[in-house]
Amino acid sequence: MVVELISVGTELLLGNIVNTNAQYLSRQLSKLGLDCYYQTVVGDNPDRIKAALDVAYSRGNMVILTGGLGPTKDDLTKEMLMEYFNKEVVLDEEAWGMMKERMTRLGFTEFTDSQKKQAYVPKEAIIMYNHHGTAPGCIMEHNGKYCLLFPGPPKEMQPMFEEYALPYLKQFSDKVFVSINIKMISKDVAPITIVGEGPCAERLGDLCDNENPTVATYAKEDGCLIRVTAAAKDRDSALELLQPMVEKCKKALGEDYIKNIFEDI
Ligand code: ATP
Repeated sequence: MVVELISVGTELLLGNIVNTNAQYLSRQLSKLGLDCYYQTVVGDNPDRIKAALDVAYSRGNMVILTGGLGPTKDDLTKEMLMEYFNKEVVLDEEAWGMMKERMTRLGFTEFTDSQKKQAYVPKEAIIMYNHHGTAPGCIMEHNGKYCLLFPGPPKEMQPMFEEYALPYLKQFSDKVFVSINIKMISKDVAPITIVGEGPCAERLGDLCDNENPTVATYAKEDGCLIRVTAAAKDRDSALELLQPMVEKCKKALGEDYIKNIFEDI
């Protein structure tokens, strides 16, 4: 299964906020062994949201969208998707009940139609109830196209992903990715000498061309990070593949640097 991410929000395009949702979701997909080749950011504009969906579904059959589920006029993601999937929305009494309870706790005594709009969900969808905010998310399938829709705030999106999307997505994956990081630290304690990416890559040589596990170097501000990643049917099998490669990397990197070795979680 190839998955694309679409992050909706003009705030993202203007640089007002950082797209941490895409970072979080990419990491989750990679741990699940699901391929993600493209990420898109699009503003709160109906035509451009539709164009982004067209492009994403021309390349893959699953799209995960975040943002634009709020009560205001410019929150259009759900409406655009309903048009795209040719689906109707219905009031979800459970979501509306949860929203009213939450709003009452926050001091609201009356509820508006625009608030209620958030409790309308697509017919024949899996509803992802929101225990940390208002708008529910949903998982839909239509003619072999899958869509997962989440509200923008990370504190709402992440628990919903873990509760609903993670178990749902597991059916599409027959492998997991596990990574071990090797962080290079110089032996000179004061002043600390940064161990650069160049010398590390040179020492690792052909190991960087290996296919499974892969070995990749990253230049970080405090020195080079080497990430060794294996794909396997489960975590134990991945760790079995990783162990000998981590040993080879340690040997190739030599004794003159201290290495901090830890699993990438
Ligand atoms: P709300 O009901 O809170 O309006 P929403 O689903 O309409 O939720 P947006 O209005 O698009 O979401 O975004 C609300 C807030 O969520 C943003 O101001 C920002 O703080 C956060 N947010 C949205 N998208 C992202 C993202 N891609 N990465 C990180 N934070 C995000």
